[in-house]
Amino acid sequence: MADTLIKVDLTQSAFDNDMVHNRWHPDIPMVAWVNPGDDFIIETYDWTGGFIKNDDSADDVRDIDLSIVHFLSGPIGVKGAEPGDLLVVDLLDIGAKAESQWGFNGFFSKNNGGGFLTDHFPEAQKSIWDFKGMFTNSRHVPGVNFAGLIHPGLIGCLPDKSLLDTWNTREVDFIATNPTRVPPLANAPFAPTAHMGRLKGDLRDSAAATGARTVPPREHGGNCDIKDLSRGSKIYFPVYVDGAGLSMGDLHFSQGDGEITFCGAIEMAGWLHLKVDVIKDGIAKYGIKSPIFKPSPITPNYRDYLIFEGISVDEYGKQHYLDVNVAYRQACLNAIEYLTKFGYSKAQAYSILGTAPVQGHISGVVDIPNACATLWIPTEIFEFDINPGSAGPTRFLDGSVTMPLSPDL
Ligand code: ZN
Repeated sequence: MADTLIKVDLTQSAFDNDMVHNRWHPDIPMVAWVNPGDDFIIETYDWTGGFIKNDDSADDVRDIDLSIVHFLSGPIGVKGAEPGDLLVVDLLDIGAKAESQWGFNGFFSKNNGGGFLTDHFPEAQKSIWDFKGMFTNSRHVPGVNFAGLIHPGLIGCLPDKSLLDTWNTREVDFIATNPTRVPPLANAPFAPTAHMGRLKGDLRDSAAATGARTVPPREHGGNCDIKDLSRGSKIYFPVYVDGAGLSMGDLHFSQGDGEITFCGAIEMAGWLHLKVDVIKDGIAKYGIKSPIFKPSPITPNYRDYLIFEGISVDEYGKQHYLDVNVAYRQACLNAIEYLTKFGYSKAQAYSILGTAPVQGHISGVVDIPNACATLWIPTEIFEFDINPGSAGPTRFLDGSVTMPLSPDL
């Protein structure tokens, strides 16, 4: 059995674990060193460090201080890895912590984070998903059961100083274009809730003031939320600092393409079994700017889908030019409206799109003025027939089961 290099105790605050950090900065010290070819196990908190509870209230989703996220395990140093190399990471296996066989999905309040459909779902809501081996279902969203496509939402290597400066400059400049926007355009560095791992003293304080927030995906990978980065995948990461500094967290039991609910997929605490290797000078050899990866040999074997189209005319009738964001939003809204005909609330339907192995495709981006995006819902995850027919939809649910909602105070 491979060694567990980082352990997390879910009864302990993530801020008290010095093998965890919640900002990106090149000065964060490595917590362990491995050799190319080694395999090892890393445990992680859920992305909120245990703030969201397995209960029937969404108050925690409403009240969370989002400046604390994401709690990442690492950084792991790989001997011999140098700037310009590629770090090869095999995701040999991923699982939920044995003592925590559940996960959560939520919608943030528009005033605290928001989400892809925040104008339609402006208040905090939550659903809890229980794991039964490789399958999951929810007491808050009846009628669906599906296999997990477990993956890290967030994984990548430490930036060097120059890359960190690039991130901070472009994001702070971007915020300045509309500083009062709700939700904000981006998240600037924020020292008060920074957890800088083993960095101590003055160095720690200056790094906390400039450490990049972990929210967006960036050139190094980071918070990409790619559902297909699952067990069995192989990822090639650009290396920027000596030792690479690989960190990860934000494990998802399952997620639909787009992670449209933002809080997010089915979020969980868990572990990863990894193997690392190095391709010397791989960035130049292959012309790499952002990570590339190979998919898992195992994927959910759903064969039948009901596919919803969306075009870049928004829900208020306004024309947009080849805008795939608007088009995907229409595909999602069209699917939600359809699922309500079987008895789901709009919130339950939205939750299914965020959690189940739903596929999102950019279908057309050239036919002016409309982009076309499609949302693929696997029909086999439902305990009833969702296909259209001449008899009309059979109302499977009577509305007696609801999702917890916490109004803004
Ligand atoms: Zn996540």
